[in-house]
Amino acid sequence: MKKEGSIFNYRVEKSLTESSGKLGRSGVITTPHGEIATPAFIPVGTKATVKAVLPEAMKTLGAQALLANAYHLYLQPGSQILDEAGGLASFMNWAGPTFTDSGGFQVLSLGVGFKKVIAMDDKTFRSDEVIAEKKERLAHVDDDGVTFKSHLDGSMHRFTPEISLQIQHQLGADIMFAFDECTTLHNTRKYQEKSLERTRLWAKRCLVEHGRLTKERASKPYQALFGVLQGAQYEDLRRKAARDLAGLDEEGISFDGFGLGGALDKANLGTIVSWMVEELPANKPRHLLGIGEPDDLFVGVENGADTFDCVAPSRQARTSAVFTPRGRVNITNAKYKRQFAPIDESCDCYTCTHYTAAYLNHLFHAKEMLGATLATIHNERFIVRLVDQMREAINRGEFYDLKEDFMGRFYGSKD
Ligand SMILES: [Zn+2]
Repeated sequence: MKKEGSIFNYRVEKSLTESSGKLGRSGVITTPHGEIATPAFIPVGTKATVKAVLPEAMKTLGAQALLANAYHLYLQPGSQILDEAGGLASFMNWAGPTFTDSGGFQVLSLGVGFKKVIAMDDKTFRSDEVIAEKKERLAHVDDDGVTFKSHLDGSMHRFTPEISLQIQHQLGADIMFAFDECTTLHNTRKYQEKSLERTRLWAKRCLVEHGRLTKERASKPYQALFGVLQGAQYEDLRRKAARDLAGLDEEGISFDGFGLGGALDKANLGTIVSWMVEELPANKPRHLLGIGEPDDLFVGVENGADTFDCVAPSRQARTSAVFTPRGRVNITNAKYKRQFAPIDESCDCYTCTHYTAAYLNHLFHAKEMLGATLATIHNERFIVRLVDQMREAINRGEFYDLKEDFMGRFYGSKD
């Protein structure tokens, strides 16, 4: 019998399978810090803060959980500090579930500076040595782990599966991710195969270390561990990754859920997600890592992803790009100078119910901090609410009506 604090589970509520043959579904994830109704968008607070916004405002705008980053918190202030503070949620005054990613994506993208979702074509250059222009290679991978240089002060550090799990246990989030090697779509097929096997062996080591730490820290609330699936754009590798990680059992310890990871080819996002989801057990949640564009969210939900995280809504807000039902617009545009009405009349966020587009236009032109705050509240609410609407539409059997209506307006209108 599990004690009160050790609760973690997932149950399916309604599935799209009967009506459309698709794997999308609604459900509920239960964690020691509360429930998450899925599908759900999980806003990112990289350094234990969603930039420019109070945690209380994130709660008010409907965020059910937040995701922070192990790499950043390890470097500053140090995971030990968060452990002493009682964990991530307590440290940042967030009364709800939290996620941490493993740090794998961050340390490895220090190595290549790649983007998460890219458009691929047949002419796209493939090499294992490709790095983004003007980026120094700051990370080196071997079979045991990754050695990397801090972006803060240039000091050298090393992550292994064990170290990532030790850091994440100290950070204390309800949902953690296994340490994986995140490849780029530019790597060769041969390298993807080698890397996938490395990630599988790291996943086993993560489970062993997770089991040890869970026992050692038995007085703390239970932390769930998700295995991360790689395999780039290859169907056989994606399916193999899902079967391998779903089948792992290290002395009774198996993954509580799965992260659908890696670089993703935007045009085939839905197909790639469906390959993995078809191989995964229905009774465990799936998190699509680093995805937050409206069209990608629809495709992810449709194909069976339950939760999503992305820095895009807040990052874009700080550059004055805000969502409206008719697409993303730049609030500094002259046409908003005299719009004495909200950014989005149909939005129920604090910004749209209290402030005009003209005021935001002024704040950004005057480089006032409040501009970033108000725009972030709106963008996060827009994406959180959009995924909430997908969940409600699944429950009502109207997912495709919502998709058609939203996509037509958001991507179809030109003004
Ligand atoms: Zn709004």
